[in-house]
Amino acid sequence: MSDEDIIGQVRETVRQLCGGFPGSYWREKDRERAYPTEFVEALTEAGLLASLIPEEYGGAGLPLSVASAILEEIHSNGCNGAACHAQMYTMGTLLRHGSEEQRKKYLPGIATGELRLQAFGVTEPTAGTDTTSIATTAVRDGDEYVVNGQKVWTSRAEYSDLMILLARTTAKDKVAKRADGLSVFIVDMREVVGNGMTIRPIRTMINHATTEVFFDNMRIPASALIGEEGKGFRYILTGMNAERILIASECIGDGDWFIKTASDYARERSVFGRPIGQNQGIQFPIARAHAETRAAALMVKEACRLYDAGKPCGAEANMAKMLASEASWAAGEACIQTHGGFGFAEEYDVERKFRETRLYQIAPISTNLILSFIAEHELELPRSY
Ligand SMILES: Cc1cc2nc3c(=O)[nH]c(=O)nc-3n(C[C@H](O)[C@H](O)[C@H](O)COP(=O)(O)OP(=O)(O)OC[C@H]3O[C@@H](n4cnc5c(N)ncnc54)[C@H](O)[C@@H]3O)c2cc1C
Repeated sequence: MSDEDIIGQVRETVRQLCGGFPGSYWREKDRERAYPTEFVEALTEAGLLASLIPEEYGGAGLPLSVASAILEEIHSNGCNGAACHAQMYTMGTLLRHGSEEQRKKYLPGIATGELRLQAFGVTEPTAGTDTTSIATTAVRDGDEYVVNGQKVWTSRAEYSDLMILLARTTAKDKVAKRADGLSVFIVDMREVVGNGMTIRPIRTMINHATTEVFFDNMRIPASALIGEEGKGFRYILTGMNAERILIASECIGDGDWFIKTASDYARERSVFGRPIGQNQGIQFPIARAHAETRAAALMVKEACRLYDAGKPCGAEANMAKMLASEASWAAGEACIQTHGGFGFAEEYDVERKFRETRLYQIAPISTNLILSFIAEHELELPRSY
């Protein structure tokens, strides 16, 4: 079967699955800030979250273009993949840089969903985007590492068994390059929560299950180290392209949802004796957002093509994320404006989607940092920070 056929089939499966999770389901979760366990279980049972795990470890071994179609379809059907999208790609660090023993130990369980690996502890309150300035340390002590410090915005930590953790193993002033001396660990959270690790939820504008995580003399086995000590920053970077492309796919889905919802409403809603959609002032922002979303979708497709061919795709992954997050925001703006006052009513789902899609101009990387990347790496302009 060709990749195109697989994508068609997968889209149909996702559409049917999402039919069981209407707006009322998401509204209730949003109101309670509750985790959408039933939705995550349904995706797991359908094998969709294991699509990127190679077959030899129990996954489907599919290309990123298929994972991109899954997340896009989830979002264009009004659902939200944020509660579990990391289960798809966070394992990439383990897959690419872990030992065979670590892969065999964790990947089959992640593939069945028996093990959740969806906590990614990188961001810290003081370092912010300047990742090489993180202050969390992991100090070797015999057969263990002792971890001290704090992470912020560690999403889904309360719903994860495992965490990919970035910590400093050699002080910044003792390494030749600032990216050196950082290491990545796979932490079995079941062994350390309440025993060196404390998780505190952060209530946010959206229902995102995000948290602060504190490490107080947390002891983890030395075997939790992924790859070589001190090389962790590079390992994390190699996973970021997949993350950006998949988040961009969610934004395309959001954009399509907003455009369809706005167009449907504009055809139905009649004011001054005619459908509001007959007015160009209503049509044009929707049409423009549609054009922007389709253009961004082409960049997502190109980034997937390069990624799946094993070619460099840093610029395309970043541009895809930036363009898609801006297109979905423009579509959200057109949709809320088209709905007038009803855009603010919870039962239309527009205000919730509007809040949700805003995140992606900030996380996993903010737009300014993408522009800096393009300026420096594509245009050879001096580094600005
Ligand atoms: C809901 C949510 C979920 C998240 N989930 C995770 C997660 O699971 N794991 C994780 O590790 N992180 C996560 N993050 C963190 C996210 O990746 C960061 O918030 C994001 O990278 C921005 O970092 P910051 O918040 O520290 O902003 P800062 O680095 O403090 O930046 C603030 C603003 O200043 C701008 N800025 C900073 N430096 C420059 C510069 N040199 N030039 C121009 N502009 C600049 C930024 O673009 C930004 O707009 C999440 C964040 C949120 C809000």
